[in-house]
Parts: sequence; C-alpha cells; structure tokens
Amino acid sequence: MQPLKNVACPHCGKLTPFTPANKWRPFCSERCKMIDLGAWAAESYRVASEDPPAEDDEAS
Ligand SMILES: [Zn+2]
Repeated sequence: MQPLKNVACPHCGKLTPFTPANKWRPFCSERCKMIDLGAWAAESYRVASEDPPAEDDEAS
C-alpha cells in the first residue's frame, strides 16, 4: 500500500506526489504553478471580450 497520492500536474500532466512536502502541489514544480496561474490570470483579464475561435478558412 502506498500512502502517497499522486496527482497529475494541471499544467504538464506529470504525476507528482500530493503531499505536504510538495509545496507546489498539485503542480509538479514552481514553474508549472507560475505558468498555470499566470495563464489563468491572463484568461480572466480578457474574459467575455474574446470571441470563440471561429472557423478559419486557413485550410482552403
Ligand atoms: Zn508540471
């Protein structure tokens, strides 16, 4: 039995131990945490003002 519980890093998907020793949990590292939080903040700044990606005819 393993008392450790692994979770997938929300940013990169890498399995990382969800323990008090892992201060970046549920992220695998500070980098992933900062990137993810940064992305989230950036998203919230332009909420509701961004059109959903339309179907570009780039393939034509
Ligand atoms: Zn990660």
